[in-house]
Amino acid sequence: MAIPSSISLSERQSFPVVQKSLEHLGHFDRNTGEIAIRKDQPEAGKHVILLHELLHFTAEVLIQGRVIKRQPDEAFIANAAPVLLLMLVRAGLWTGVSYRQLKAFMQKQSVAAARAKKRGKGNKKKGS
Ligand SMILES: [Zn+2]
Repeated sequence: MAIPSSISLSERQSFPVVQKSLEHLGHFDRNTGEIAIRKDQPEAGKHVILLHELLHFTAEVLIQGRVIKRQPDEAFIANAAPVLLLMLVRAGLWTGVSYRQLKAFMQKQSVAAARAKKRGKGNKKKGS
């Protein structure tokens, strides 16, 4: 199953999920409920982005229900989404991406992050 074209909480309300060109990886519009996912991302990445934006959506529902006051830290959402997605996929509760696809995507991401970190340190050393 691919990324859904809408998300809903009830029969009456449905919110679009669109894939398009974006500067960032994803976006949740708190006014319209629209979730946007950058279309040039690999399939596994789109699922991580979708869950990330769904966490923002969930927080917004809780804010409107006066359960919490604000969105959680971006670091929490950014790091919780892939962990939660791994658990859901492993349990067979989230389909559309396989554990193998997801694991491969995450390994690529962590290699890229480690390289970026290394480059950052290298640049600092050169500067000092
Ligand atoms: Zn976010």
